[in-house]
Amino acid sequence: MTLEYAQAALKKYFGYDAFRPLQADIIEAIYAGRDALVLMPTGGGKSICYQIPAVTLEGVAVVVSPLIALMKDQVEGLRANGIPAAFLNSTLSTEEVFHLENHLLAGHIKLLYVSPEKIVTAGFRQLLSHLKVSLFAIDEAHCISAWGHDFRPEYTQLQFLKDQYPDTPMVALTATADKLTRKDIIAQLRLRNPALFIASFDRPNIRLTVRPGQNRLRQIVDFLKKHPNHSGIIYCLARKTCEDLAQRLHAHGFRATYYHAEMPPQKRSQAQEDFINDRVPIVCATIAFGMGIDKSNVRFVLHYNMPRNVESYYQEIGRCGRDGLPAEAVLFFSYADVMTYREMFERDESTPPDQKALKIAKLERMFELAQAPVCRRKTVLAYFGETYDGNCGHCDVCLHPPQHFDGTIAAQKALSALKRVHERVGMNLLIDILRGSSRREIQEQGYHNIKTYGAGREYTSNEWAFLLSQMLHLGLIEIAYDDHHCLRVTEEGAKVLFQGKKVTLALPQPEEKDPMPTRTKTSKAEALGSPLEENQVEALFQRLRELRRAIAVQQGMPPYVVFHDTTLQDMALKCPLFVFDLLKVSGVGERKMERFGEAFVREIRRFALEKNPTGHKPKGISIIRTWALLEAGYSVAQIAEMRGLAPTTIAGHLATLYETGDNLDLSAWVSAEALERIQRVLPQLPEPYALSAIQEIVGEAYDFDQIRFAIADYRRQRRAAGAPPEDDEAEETPADA
Ligand code: ADP
Ligand code: ZN
Repeated sequence: MTLEYAQAALKKYFGYDAFRPLQADIIEAIYAGRDALVLMPTGGGKSICYQIPAVTLEGVAVVVSPLIALMKDQVEGLRANGIPAAFLNSTLSTEEVFHLENHLLAGHIKLLYVSPEKIVTAGFRQLLSHLKVSLFAIDEAHCISAWGHDFRPEYTQLQFLKDQYPDTPMVALTATADKLTRKDIIAQLRLRNPALFIASFDRPNIRLTVRPGQNRLRQIVDFLKKHPNHSGIIYCLARKTCEDLAQRLHAHGFRATYYHAEMPPQKRSQAQEDFINDRVPIVCATIAFGMGIDKSNVRFVLHYNMPRNVESYYQEIGRCGRDGLPAEAVLFFSYADVMTYREMFERDESTPPDQKALKIAKLERMFELAQAPVCRRKTVLAYFGETYDGNCGHCDVCLHPPQHFDGTIAAQKALSALKRVHERVGMNLLIDILRGSSRREIQEQGYHNIKTYGAGREYTSNEWAFLLSQMLHLGLIEIAYDDHHCLRVTEEGAKVLFQGKKVTLALPQPEEKDPMPTRTKTSKAEALGSPLEENQVEALFQRLRELRRAIAVQQGMPPYVVFHDTTLQDMALKCPLFVFDLLKVSGVGERKMERFGEAFVREIRRFALEKNPTGHKPKGISIIRTWALLEAGYSVAQIAEMRGLAPTTIAGHLATLYETGDNLDLSAWVSAEALERIQRVLPQLPEPYALSAIQEIVGEAYDFDQIRFAIADYRRQRRAAGAPPEDDEAEETPADA
C-alpha cells in the first residue's frame, strides 16, 4: 500500500486535500507494518491516522476506545462518509451482536470499535481469531498507565493482543502522555520497536487567558455578551456549582444547561444532546462532560474552577476550536480551589501515597502555570516538553504584561503580619488583616490590635492574593497543610523580613474596562478568491448552517456529522453553483456530496440569485437562472421565451446541470435508444466534441440537443469513473440568432 492511495482515500471519503503534519508519516509506518505511538493534541487529527489505513488495507481495523459515547459518534461520522464501520460494546442486544458478527465474518466492515471490557472476553477473542485484522488502534492509550491521569485498569489487559497477533501493526494514540506514561504505554502494550510520533501540542487558534477568580459570574456574563450565540463549555468543580451557574446565566438571559455525573442518566444525555445539536449553546459541566464529544464548533471553554492538573487543563480546553477557527479558553483561578483539591486528594483513602504525592505535585504545577507572569502558551508548551520561540502575542500575559516592581516592602508587611499573629491564619484572613477589615474573627482574636493591621490598604484583596501567591512560589511563605492551611514564614522569608533581602514582585494587570477577550474576526471571511463579498460570505454561511440544522433534525444526526463549521465556511467562501464543484470544498467527500450535495447547492443557488454577486462567471449564473425557472415548473420552450434565449441554449444549460451533478430526468428530452446510439461513437472522437461531426456519423434523426444530452450523460458517467470534468465555455445563443 502506498501514500498515493492514502491521499486518494483522504479526498474521496473525508474531502480533505492534504494530510496534516505527521499524519502521512504515521500512515506510512502502519503501511510498513510497524507499531507506532502517536502523541497529538486533542483536535490534532489522530483518528485519520488509523482510519485511512483501515479503509485502504485489506481486512478490518480493530479500534479500542474507552467510551461508548465516543464510539457511537465516530461510527456515525464514518458511516456518513461512506465508510463501513461498527461498534461492539455492552449496549448492543444479542441479536445486534449476532448480526454484526456475520457482517464481520463476511468482511463487510472496515473499522470496528470495541470497548476494552469487550475485547478481553473469550467470545470476542474467539471471533477475532476468525477475522483478518489490518491493524489495532488503541485510542486514549494513556488510560493504560497508572502514571497517567486517567488510569483504567481494564486497559492493562490489552497486552494479549500483541502476544497473539505479533505481526499485526498496532498504533497507540493519546493526547496526553509525559515521558513516564509513554514508556509505560510501550511496555504494557508490548509494542515492538515502535515508531514514535510527537506532534506539536500548540493549538494556535485557542487564545489562552487566565483571570483572578473574584466576581466570576460578572466576568462570565460579560464574556458571554461579547460572544453571542457561541457554543461553549463552562467547567465547574462541584455539581452544585454547575446547577447554580446555569440557573444564574438563565436569569441573565442566556440559554444554558448543566451536566454532571449525579444527574439521572436520561436528563444527562438530554443535556448532552441539546448541546451537541446546537439547541442549547452553553453547558455548565463537571469534567464528566466532554470526553468523547466530538463537536467541532465549540467556541470557548471557561474554567469556573481551576483544573486539577495541566494535562486536564489542556485536554479540556482542547475541546474548543477543533475546527481550527478562533476559540477562547479562559481560566479563573483562586487559591481556594487549590485548597479544595488538596483536601480532596489527602482525604482519598483509596490512593496509595506515591500516587497522592504525584497528584499534589501536578496540582502545584497547574497553580504555578496560572500564576506565572510568562506567555501562557509558552508555559503550557514547556510543560509538555516543547520549546516555543518568542511569545504568542495574544494570550493575556502577552497582551497585558504584568508590571514588575520592588516588592520588598509589600512582602515585609505580609511577613510581619504573619509573625505577629503567630502564623495562625490562612491566606484570606491574612489579607483581611492587611486590609484592615472589621471581620468578626479579627476582633475576636484581637488581630485588630497588631501593628500591621490595615498596613496593606494600598492593594486590593485581589492584588494581595496575587502577591501572596508569588511569595508562595518564591518560597517566602509556605502552607501548613497539616495544620488548617495556616501560612508559615520560611527561612527565605525570614531573610526578607529581618535582613531586608530584596524581592521583585509583579503587580496584577490593571482591571481595565475590557479585560476579557473579544471575539476575533474570522480571517477566512477575507474572502480570498471568493466570488462573494465579505459580508455575503458570512450571510451565506449562516444560511448554510440553518440548512444543516434542518437536515440534521430530519436525519436524526448531530449537525457536525452532516458537515463541520469549517466545511460550511469554505463552502460559503467558494460558493459553488454546481454539485460536483462541492468536491473542491474542504470536508466534502464523495458520499456526503451524493447525500447532501444537492440540498446545499440549491441553497447556494437561491442565495446567488437573490444577492446577484458579481464574482461568478456569467455563464454559471445564466445556467442557474434557467434552473430556477425549471424548478418553478416551466418547460424548455417557455424558459427560452421568458429569457429571450434560443431553446437550444436552454437545452445546453440543462445538459450542463446534468453533467455537473443535478439529478435531472433526461428521458423527457432524449430516449434511451438515442443515448445509446450517440454514446457508442463518442469514445472514438477527440474532445471537445463537435456536434456536427457527431451528427454526420449518427444521422440527422438525432438533433443537436439530443447529442448534447448524450455527451453530458457520457461525461457524467466517466467522471464517476474518475475522469476529470471538462470546462466548457461555449457562448450563449440569443433567441433571434
Ligand atoms: P483528535 O482525535 O486528534 O482529537 P480528530 O481526528 O477528531 O482529532 O480531528 C480533529 C478535526 O480535524 C476533525 O474535524 C477532522 O475531520 C479534522 N481533520 C483531521 N485531519 C485533517 C486533514 N488532513 N485535513 C483537514 N481536516 C482534518
Ligand atoms: Zn502569549
